[in-house]
Amino acid sequence: MAKSDSGTAGQSVRRGALAEFSEAQAAEFVKSLIPALPQEEVSERSENAPPLAIVEGDSPVVQMVNAILIQALKSRASDIHIEPYPDAVRVRFRVDGSLVTAHELPHAAQSGVISRLKVMASLDIAEKRFPQDGRIKLSLPEKGSSIDFRMSTLPSIFGEKIVLRVLGTGQLKESVDELGLTGQPHRYVKEALRNSFGMIVVTGPTGSGKTTTLYTMLRELRKPDVNIVTAEDPVEYNLPGITQVSVKPQIGFTFDVALRSFLRQDPDIILVGEMRDYETAAIAIKAALTGHLVFSTVHTNDAPSTVVRLVDMGIEPYLVASAVKLVVAQRLVRRICEQCKEEVEISTEEQENLHESTLAGLEKTCRGRGCEACNRTGYRGRAPVYEVMPIKSKDLKRVITEGGTEVMVAQVAKREGLRTLKDEAMALVNAGVTSLEEAMQIIVSE
Ligand SMILES: [Zn+2]
Repeated sequence: MAKSDSGTAGQSVRRGALAEFSEAQAAEFVKSLIPALPQEEVSERSENAPPLAIVEGDSPVVQMVNAILIQALKSRASDIHIEPYPDAVRVRFRVDGSLVTAHELPHAAQSGVISRLKVMASLDIAEKRFPQDGRIKLSLPEKGSSIDFRMSTLPSIFGEKIVLRVLGTGQLKESVDELGLTGQPHRYVKEALRNSFGMIVVTGPTGSGKTTTLYTMLRELRKPDVNIVTAEDPVEYNLPGITQVSVKPQIGFTFDVALRSFLRQDPDIILVGEMRDYETAAIAIKAALTGHLVFSTVHTNDAPSTVVRLVDMGIEPYLVASAVKLVVAQRLVRRICEQCKEEVEISTEEQENLHESTLAGLEKTCRGRGCEACNRTGYRGRAPVYEVMPIKSKDLKRVITEGGTEVMVAQVAKREGLRTLKDEAMALVNAGVTSLEEAMQIIVSE
C-alpha cells in the first residue's frame, strides 16, 4: 500500500507542474535543452566507436587485425580464435558451429596482433600471466551500425591465446512468426506471449540460438506502454526501447541482485539471462506470480527436465506448476548446402545405431557433397529445432506439483502431443533440410 500512496502523491505534484505546459510545449522545451547536453549523451553509441575499416596509413598490425575481423564477419563467424604456437599464430573462425582455420600468421606477428587486440579491448597489455576479459566495440560505416566483440585472453605456454565472441550476429527476427516455428508449437508460443504474467523458459546449450529466440519474443512485445528490463551476462544485442543491464558478478552485481532492483522499477516484462541458483530462480518465480511476464533460461537438455530442474533448485513444485507457462528447448542443426545437395542411401552403420522407430521407413536422406559455396563442408547456415511444451493441462500441472521425475513429466507431455527435439530433428532430415549425421547429435544426446 505504501507504494501506491506515494505514487499518487508524486503524480499529483507532477500534474500540477505540467499543467502550466501543454504537452506540445513540454516537448518543445525538452527539445530546446538537447543541444546543451554534452555531445556523447545525445549521439548514438555507435558513432563513438572507432570504425572497422582498413585505412591506408595505419600500421600493418592495425590493418591486419582489422582485416581479420572484417573477414570473420563476412564468413559469418560467431567466434574468432587467435592461438600462438612455436612457429606460427593460428587464426580460426567458428562458422555454423564448427571451427575452420582461416590463417597461419608468421610467428613475428604474434606480439603485435595480441597487443593490438588487448589495446582495443582496454585490457592491461603488460599483464600476460593472468586471464583477462574485455569488450571491443567497432562501428560499421557501410551499414551505419556497430558490432561488439567480447574478448578473453588465456596465458598458454606459447603466449596469450585470444578468443573473440562476436556478439549479436544471430539473425534477429522481427517477430516470432519468423523463428521457423510451425503448426501447434507456433500457436503455443503465440498464446504464451499473450499472458500478462507467468514465466517463459527457453533452454538449450550455449550456441543453441536461445538468445535469438528470447530477443525475438521481447521484440514482439516491445511497445511504448510496456516497461521491459533485462539482466544479461553479457548484453548481446542492443534493443532500442528496452532497458538492458549487464550483470557484473565480480562486483557482486549478480542476477538476483539485478532482479530485486528491477522489481522496484515498475516493470511489466523481465528477462533474466539465466537461472542457475536458488536465489535467482526464487525471485524470478515470485515476479512471475505477481503480475510480471518473466523470460529466462535454464541449463537443461529438454523441456520436461527444465521444470524438474527448477524443483531441484529448491523451488516449491506447486509454484513451478503455476508460474511456468511455457518451456521451449532448442538446438541448431547445420543446413545442407543447397548448391551441392544430393540424396544418399542410409548406411548400415546408421541403421544399426538408430532405433527402427526413429528411422520410420526413411530410406534416403540428403547430404552436401561439398563445394565452393559451402567451403567444402557440405553445410551452409543453420536451422533451429524446437521442443515446445506449454504447461496448462491439469494432468501436466498435477505431475509437476506432485514432484514428478523428468520421465514422468515427459510421459504426460508426450501423451498430450509434445513433439520432442528428436521428432523435430527427424522431420528436418525427412524434409532434406539437414543430414542424418547432424540430427544424430540431438538424437544421441537425448
Ligand atoms: Zn556446397
